Amino acid sequence: MALPRRNSIVVVGSSNTDMILKVPKVPRPGETMLGGHFSIAPGGKGANQAVAAARAGGAVAFVGRLGKDTLGNDALAALRREKITVSHVARSAFHPSGVALIFVGADGENSIGVAGGANQELTAKDISAARQLIEGASILILQLETPLPAVEAAAALARGAGVSVILNPAPAQALPDRLLRNTTFLTPNETEASLLTGIKVSGIASAKQAAVALQRRGARNVIITLGANGALVATAAGTEWFPGFRVKAVDTTAAGDVFNGALAVALAESRPLSEAVRFAHAAAAISVTRMGAQPSIPTRKEIGSMLRR
Ligand code: ADP
Repeated sequence: MALPRRNSIVVVGSSNTDMILKVPKVPRPGETMLGGHFSIAPGGKGANQAVAAARAGGAVAFVGRLGKDTLGNDALAALRREKITVSHVARSAFHPSGVALIFVGADGENSIGVAGGANQELTAKDISAARQLIEGASILILQLETPLPAVEAAAALARGAGVSVILNPAPAQALPDRLLRNTTFLTPNETEASLLTGIKVSGIASAKQAAVALQRRGARNVIITLGANGALVATAAGTEWFPGFRVKAVDTTAAGDVFNGALAVALAESRPLSEAVRFAHAAAAISVTRMGAQPSIPTRKEIGSMLRR
């Protein structure tokens, strides 16, 4: 099913099921910890960003891989509940759906293990199968929880069709310049910007240096998110710092995912970059005031209230 060309966002990426065990203390190797509370929630950077864009008002399609298992069925149902197009979500016969096992201690300490499963099977062939969808989009969003060849193929396809590409280079990993050259907006956090440039990024001045270095490597625009300190934006016109919203943060899980999803929506609506960054800041600020990943993602109405504050 084709999406309307205007205002449409395609997310290529990962979907995981987060299995969260709140325990008095994160168990050490060999230790058994009783007294836990279990919860389960849809997650994975790709799916989080797709949900963030959908709740922010975007017409969104998700491209990824799930296993042929009950977790995959549930993840697909969760995407559908958000009115996300899932025509190009493939089901893998050989690998189970992606899972993250998360221990959270009472002190907030955590310990996480991820089994990428079906996410690791996403290939350039899957991207070719979604060609029409990607070429018809306004914005393509990518992250790095799926294999790099698929990410590169999607970026090249979009670039060739004149579709803007947001690459959120998370989790941190080294990237080839040819991928950066196909990136319209590169959105690392401080850790990722440090790894990509070798510059220790902490605060505005070092972010400026890193952003310019990434532009030299080929990224057209660079937005380095700085947590509570907002974001440093570098375009052809120069660099500018955009402070975020002041809120009481309780859980910053998925703040970056919400930022990227909301940014895509504002850009797909042809808003100027400064306005799009403010919109993304507002959405991400709301998400850090709430617990969890997808449950914390705000709606467009809530983002509007934050912007008027
Ligand atoms: P990531 O979650 O990828 O590590 P950041 O920590 O840089 O990314 O946060 C991404 C965005 O989330 C920030 O640019 C900002 O808009 C928002 N944000 C994160 N932490 C806070 C906070 N404590 N207060 C307000 N906004 C925040």
